[in-house]
Amino acid sequence: MEVRRHDVIIVGGGAAGLRAAVAIADADPSADVALVSKVYPMRSHTVSAEGGAAAVARPDDSLEDHAFDTVKGSDFLGDQDVIQYFVEQAARELILLEHWGCPWSRNEDGTVATRAFGGMTTKRTWFARDKVGFHMLHTLFQHSMRYAQIRRYDEYFVTKLLVDGGAVRGVTALDVRSGELFVIAARAVILCTGGGGRAFPFTTNGNIKTGDGMALAYRAGVPLKDMEFVQYHPTGLPRTGILITEAARGEGGYVRNADGERFLVERDYGVGTKAELGPRDMISRAIVQEIEAGRGLKGTYGEYVHLDLTHLGEAHIEAKLPFVRELARTYVGVDPVHEMIPIRPVVHYMMGGVDVDIDGATDLPGLYAAGETASISMNGANRLGSNSLTECLVFGARSGEKALEFARGSSDASEDVLRQQGAEEGARIDALRGKRKGGEKMAVIREQMAAALERGCGVYREESSLEEACRALAQLRGRYADLGLEDASRVFNTELVAALELGNMLDVAEAVANSALPRKESRGAHTRKDYPHRDDQNFLYHTLCSFDPGGPRIGKKPVTLGRWEPQERKY
Ligand SMILES: Cc1cc2nc3c(=O)[nH]c(=O)nc-3n(C[C@H](O)[C@H](O)[C@H](O)COP(=O)(O)OP(=O)(O)OC[C@H]3O[C@@H](n4cnc5c(N)ncnc54)[C@H](O)[C@@H]3O)c2cc1C
Repeated sequence: MEVRRHDVIIVGGGAAGLRAAVAIADADPSADVALVSKVYPMRSHTVSAEGGAAAVARPDDSLEDHAFDTVKGSDFLGDQDVIQYFVEQAARELILLEHWGCPWSRNEDGTVATRAFGGMTTKRTWFARDKVGFHMLHTLFQHSMRYAQIRRYDEYFVTKLLVDGGAVRGVTALDVRSGELFVIAARAVILCTGGGGRAFPFTTNGNIKTGDGMALAYRAGVPLKDMEFVQYHPTGLPRTGILITEAARGEGGYVRNADGERFLVERDYGVGTKAELGPRDMISRAIVQEIEAGRGLKGTYGEYVHLDLTHLGEAHIEAKLPFVRELARTYVGVDPVHEMIPIRPVVHYMMGGVDVDIDGATDLPGLYAAGETASISMNGANRLGSNSLTECLVFGARSGEKALEFARGSSDASEDVLRQQGAEEGARIDALRGKRKGGEKMAVIREQMAAALERGCGVYREESSLEEACRALAQLRGRYADLGLEDASRVFNTELVAALELGNMLDVAEAVANSALPRKESRGAHTRKDYPHRDDQNFLYHTLCSFDPGGPRIGKKPVTLGRWEPQERKY
């Protein structure tokens, strides 16, 4: 088996991965970086972000306000040292991106335009119309091409982390085009593989968001942190789950029930005067309650409520939300200039992920993680919209620099060990490819996994449904071992890739359900019907979920508080 060597491997070509690669190349022009991505980098999920990226830009705003909004949004589960560093670096990163070519929208006077976003006290979200992710990713990708030392492995699927002598030594990666497995060796590895929302049946997440990096770390003995916190975005289109960006409410959109009422204003859902611009967890719960109270509308694809932009006028919608108009017309046949858009809560983002410290480092020497796949504890129990893109930049850069430092101080792994581990992984993959004898169908396991997660780990949760989800997922994990595949070919064997992804999603799903079960309180996105209140006395800690052949093991980690003590979260 061929072994390729680099100084640092980055798995993932989204915002976090590209930013990490550039940070390393800038810090040391002689460093050799491998950027491995299962899709061409421009197809990473970052490309689909619409709304914007947060950073303090206006004279009437302050770092303190951005930090406190984030702490409060996290329901006091965010680590305050991480949040402080984040707000301090945020604007610098967005300005850097501008210097590399990102076309931020402007005010009349030439200053950077900002829009309102949920849970933020002021207009702090930078945008490039409503295709922010596209412009950011394009800028990063093009900029990364200036560095010859960033070597790309496009359409290589990482299947395993290679660990020896207590440190990470590289990865095995399947060249999807040829079907060949390679060992890629390095002295540090950064996981930037994005989230895992695809484990759920109804999500805004692209097909590739299958939690691979979380599963890779988990299987290598690194715990996953705060996995019970899954963000439901209030405004997804029924059936497809396609996102209508929060910018639609930021620009003044209303949410109405079947009676045309703005229930976020008319009833007490805890969002106060913020109304439609309350945080996502609260608005998602309000919508579910309206529907349960019989004030939703019935459609072919389930019940929904309305997002009303009609009062904004065509000129405003065309200037600020042209993509929202395009999506609504194409996918639900509604022109938001004249009609209301049907929406309902949809799985959007994972606050949890690979447990890392403020440097992006895991407990496994040499292994780092950044972006949505990491849980650096910035988002705690609920992320504020538009913080995530900036997080990818701030902590992508920092983890890149730290991984480089680590790589400089450590030595190469032995070729024999790498080859041997590579051969073992090759045998596992060969056995899976075209394994016709197995009795289980991939589609059936996937559907049952998604259904178990939705029933057990939806917007509202309770003991019995969570227990049932844990049981069902453990059983599915057993059945996965008996998977039967049909395609034995090597070139672009997408069935094999889907099977590997399903294994990863099962790990993520088990971590979500098993982390949620013991948290007997309601905090941020984790809402228990049987424990409706937050309980700082007993549950102000991060959950750690570790792999064990007998089933997930749950542990705890303290929250880093700072200047803000937990207080009731009201808006
Ligand atoms: C529809 C939508 C809209 C959003 N809008 C906003 C917004 O307006 N503002 C905001 O702040 N956030 C938004 N978010 C969230 C934000 O976009 C994401 O959290 C962020 O872009 C994640 O970036 P990332 O670099 O961590 O991962 P991604 O962009 O998801 O990239 C992951 C990379 O990992 C690679 N990869 C994964 N697994 C493997 C593997 N096994 N082997 C090799 N490579 C692998 C993929 O190929 C890809 O390159 C939105 C999310 C969605 C879904």
